[in-house]
Amino acid sequence: RLYNEVQELKGNIRVYCRIRPFLPGQNSRQTSIEYIGENGELVVANPFKQGKDTHRLFKFNKVFGQAATQEEVFLDTRPLIRSILDGYNVCIFAYGQTGSGKTYTMSGPSITSKEDWGVNYRALNDLFHLTQIRQNAVVYEVGVQMVEIYNEQVRDILSDGGIWNTALPNGLAVPDASMHSVRSTEDVLELMNIGLMNRTVGATALNERSSRSHCVLSVHVRGVDVETDSVLRGSLNLVDLAGSERVDRSEATGERLKEAQHINKSLSALGDVIFALAHKNPHVPYRNSKLTQVLQSSLGGQAKTLMFVQVNPDGDSYAETVSTLKFAERVS
Ligand code: ADP
Ligand code: MG
Repeated sequence: RLYNEVQELKGNIRVYCRIRPFLPGQNSRQTSIEYIGENGELVVANPFKQGKDTHRLFKFNKVFGQAATQEEVFLDTRPLIRSILDGYNVCIFAYGQTGSGKTYTMSGPSITSKEDWGVNYRALNDLFHLTQIRQNAVVYEVGVQMVEIYNEQVRDILSDGGIWNTALPNGLAVPDASMHSVRSTEDVLELMNIGLMNRTVGATALNERSSRSHCVLSVHVRGVDVETDSVLRGSLNLVDLAGSERVDRSEATGERLKEAQHINKSLSALGDVIFALAHKNPHVPYRNSKLTQVLQSSLGGQAKTLMFVQVNPDGDSYAETVSTLKFAERVS
């Protein structure tokens, strides 16, 4: 009974956990993953400690094990995509430490064949496919924006200027970011490649930029009913978040420390927003970070949110894994 209430409370927020496989060279005997249940249960344990206090149980909407394919993962995401054309705003993001498979789940490996396509491409393919099926009844326009959020500054990575916006007016997601009209998945792929290239420009030599910044691909759909002229708008935000790993304060200095503080701030702001939504709190603290401001229209209200919680199965990652899972548990 309690469980049903909790389910109801969660409403439009789903949390899927995904455990990535061991990579070549990783010691697969030392894993923190103890058990994966059919109904979203996950037990993790510290492989370097004995005793009964070392096991922790978590529960999510679903847990994908190491063998899960990109296609399987997308099957459970698919219904969300359909709802965009019914006028919903959908937000899908991946959370986890650097190297846990966020980019793999969202986009796929860097050199991609269709089989390895991540949620991004599959979602777009579905979206365009559905608009084609309905094209006699509804005329669709699709526009794309892509921004990077780095050190609490929002940057348009699809325009040459690459202007950093410091202020975001109320109500609009990313008003200043350029909007690009697209007609196919290929069009979007092309834009995403441009965006990803722009993203690396200016990255500090020390750190790979992608793990220190958030990247948001925003797909806006506008459909006009041929008979009634009524307009429906839906949107899809696809978010590859910065790595959630805690940076050792004693070691990080200067730029690195600043980055870490901004990342911690924005990820905890995201956690606070989703927590408030999941618990139907009257006040949702969107304004505490640029990330939550940018995502505001796709979080809360009628919006549907899906979070992938990414886990590295490696025993050495146990502490990070627990911290990642605790974050996810709080919002699910
Ligand atoms: P993140 O974006 O969280 O830093 P990546 O997506 O770059 O992590 O993944 C780290 C490495 O693990 C990459 O080499 C990636 O190809 C690989 N990887 C991640 N998830 C999987 C998976 N499900 N199957 C196979 N390889 C994966
Ligand atoms: Mg990544």
